[in-house]
Formats: sequence, C-alpha cells, structure tokens
Amino acid sequence: MIRTRFAPSPTGFLHLGGLRTALFNYLFSKKHGGRFLLRIEDTDQTRLVPGAVENIEKGLKWTGIDIDEGPHHPGSFGPYVQSERLRIYQEHAHGLVDNGHAYYCFCTSERLELLKHNQSKAGVQSMYDRRCASVATPEARARIADGQKYTVRVKVPTGGSTCVQDVLRGSVSFDNKVIDDAVLLKSDGFPTYHLASVVDDHLMRISHIIRGEEWLPSAGKHQIIYDAFGWSPPQFVHLPLLLNPDGSKLSKRQGHSSVDFYEKEGFFPESVLNFVSFLGWNPGTDREIFSKQELIDAFDLERLNKSAAIVDIEKLKWIQQQHIRRMCDDNMDRLVELARPTLEAAVPACFDDMAYLKKVLFLCRERLLFMKDSDKVVQFFFDDPLLTSEEATGLRKDLAGYDFRMFSQSCLALFSAVPEDSFTSAIISKSLKELTKKENIPYKSAMLHLRYALTGSRAGANVLDIVELLGKQKCIRRFESLIA
Ligand code: GLU
Repeated sequence: MIRTRFAPSPTGFLHLGGLRTALFNYLFSKKHGGRFLLRIEDTDQTRLVPGAVENIEKGLKWTGIDIDEGPHHPGSFGPYVQSERLRIYQEHAHGLVDNGHAYYCFCTSERLELLKHNQSKAGVQSMYDRRCASVATPEARARIADGQKYTVRVKVPTGGSTCVQDVLRGSVSFDNKVIDDAVLLKSDGFPTYHLASVVDDHLMRISHIIRGEEWLPSAGKHQIIYDAFGWSPPQFVHLPLLLNPDGSKLSKRQGHSSVDFYEKEGFFPESVLNFVSFLGWNPGTDREIFSKQELIDAFDLERLNKSAAIVDIEKLKWIQQQHIRRMCDDNMDRLVELARPTLEAAVPACFDDMAYLKKVLFLCRERLLFMKDSDKVVQFFFDDPLLTSEEATGLRKDLAGYDFRMFSQSCLALFSAVPEDSFTSAIISKSLKELTKKENIPYKSAMLHLRYALTGSRAGANVLDIVELLGKQKCIRRFESLIA
C-alpha cells in the first residue's frame, strides 16, 4: 500500500513549497489508491508559531488536498502530532543505546559551544568530537541515575560511506567522515527532527518520502538511523528547489510564497493546484490545464524534474484564465458561485436572471481573471454606463471628425428599426455596414463609437455580440441618453 505524508513543522504558515510537497505526496498516493497523511513535526518547541497548524490545515482544505490520516483525521497510526509521541521516541532512542548504535552524551552546552568555536577558528567542519562515545554504558547509566543531564547521539560509522537511494537522483553517497553523531534525543526528553521523522515514517508505514531538496543532506543521517534500527527506509524522492523568475531562491518570508497570498489575490484553488503541480513535474505532453482528478490520473514520479522550478505568477494568471474558460464550457455554476460574493455586493440585479448572467459571463470570459474584479467586467450589462463629458469627447475622437451626435442618432434609428426578435449581431452588423458606407464613416471608428457609447469602455468582447446580448431596449436607452 502506498502511504505518503506531508510532515510540516508548524514554524510558519503554509507556503508554496510546502503546498507542492503536500500535493505531490497526495497525488502519488491517490493515483495508487493509497493514503495521504498529515503529520505535525512540532518537536522544536522554541520555533512554534501560533496558528500555524490551523493555517496549514486550512490551506490544504482550500486546495482540496484531502487528508486520510492526520491530527483531525483519525487513523490507526496516530497520534499524528509529534509532541504527543514523546514516549515512543524515548523508547526508541534508549533502544538504540542498548543495541550499541547510539550513546549517551553528557557534554554541556558550554563545552559544545567552545568546541564549535575552536573548530570554526581552525576552519574545519563543526562536528561533535565523540568524547562521550567512549563512556561505557553502565557508567553512563549511573550518571543518569545520579541526575546528570544527557542527550542521546547516534553512533555514525567512522569509515566508509552511506548510500541513499533517491527515486529521482539515483544513488547518492555521503562520506561518513562528514556525518555528525547527531543528537537524537535532547536533554529535555524531546526528540530531534532526525529521530522523530525516521521513527514515525517507519511506524506509520510510509512507503515514499517525497520532500524538498533541502532535506537531501539529512538523508544520509536518516539512512544511518534506519540501519541502526535494522529497518529498511521508505523510498526517497527529493523535489527540486523553487526559484523566483530572477533566479533567486523562493524564500518562505516572501509575501508571494504564502498560500494565503494566492487565495487573497483571488486565484482559484484549482488554478493554484494546477500551477503548483508543474513546479517540478510535467505530464510529458503539451497539455497544461488539469483538474485535481486529472492530475491524480496523470501524475507519475517518473516525470519529476531534477532542475529547479521557477515560480512565475504570470504563468499562474494564464492558468487561471484557462480554468475560467473551462468553467464557462462545462461548469458555469462554479464560476457563478466564485463570482457571487463580489457580484452580490456590487451588481445585485445580475442575479435576477441567472441564464442571462451566465451568457454575460460567457461572453466576457476573456476579460475575467479575479472574481473580485468581475463586477467591473459585467456591470455595463446591467447598469447603464455613466459617460463623463471627457468620455463624450473621446467619442467624438473615435468618429475621426464625424458628427458624433448625428451618428448616434443614426444608430438609434438603426436599432429602433430592427425588430426585437431579429436583434442579432449578424443583422446589426449588416445594417451598420450599410449605414457607415452610406454616411462614409470608417467602419472601425463606428465600432469604437458603438462600444464606448454602450459600455463606457474602449475594450472588451466583440462589440456586436455585446449589442446582441444587451438587447434592443438597453441599446436604444443608452443612445437616447447619450444624445439627450
Ligand atoms: N518537518 C520537516 C519540514 O518542516 C519535514 C521534512 C521531511 O519531510 O522529512 O519540512
């Protein structure tokens, strides 16, 4: 059974890198009918950020990454919050001492600081000098019984190298000489990340660890801990780094790296999910637009990239537009729901006739990006535009010197002459062509005039389609007020 996990430390709010990790773990497990876990790694109690767990859970919920097991999703391998599992780590750490793969360390923080200081002065890698590795276990136990503070450190083999198998990178080798005898259990009884994550991944039967490349250097240490326990590790998959378009590293502190930012900005969860799925993965075809289910079907570890992925918001905007078009074609109800809060506040009348609203949204689909701006895009279909005198001057310019009043009057006459049931873009277009020819007005100028007079804007969907959708009565009313 494929079992994957997203194991954030609640030291900050959910960021894009975290979302990408969660998504790939989720997609992979769902693709194979497996389970996706959320595990909260809160063993560094000094770095906890209030509200972080809630924020992470909220972000996953918003994007539709469903948790099978987690702090609020009971499963058989809980608890899923590390601070609630301290006994488990303690037992395992002592077990490693018993089997000779770890030892008790009594060095004070002052001594360790001094060691670090001297090593950095000498220009050598800062590593524990293994002083306590030689303390015999019975003596160590006596010191503990005496009340001395201790940590538990893993005993890294002194020679040779440690190999980690990474699905993406193949075999990655670490020279044991540069692997520190890392602390597994701290003096306050809390485990370090290394111990807790290895123990939990094993006990929670995780089959694949999919996580950011920044954890690759720790993987050697983890392999040593797996070996010490006599466990075989899950499969490792280290995802490529995320970069800004200028090549700098995407930092958790940058505003646009938080998932909240994208929600507040007005991106849809499906757009964000689709965008994030391409940060280090590709389907192997030209296709770029995917729903969540389509991502599950298409996802494959084989198509992960090793090279860094660029986080380009312009690309996300494009993806959002494609999702809007898709909704227009096959899920207009969803688009209406997404736009509802804005439209209800700004253009309440638009809900009087749902079929009409849907036609309006469909016609304007290319101009929609964020629903918080949707009112500006659709408003003129419901409320007459208020043209200022400056804009009326603009209308004159549109007509390239032709008398705009006269032309407006002609339009009015033209619209009045077309019966309501023939008020289509094809028929209006034909009459307009005849009119402009007769009056010797450039057709393009006439169209600009028409658009501006009817919509109060200079750009938008095809103006003749707008005329048709506005309908005879509104077109007449708008020209009447223009020449009044
Ligand atoms: N707690 C680590 C983090 O905050 C998890 C690393 C891992 O996935 O092993 O990212």
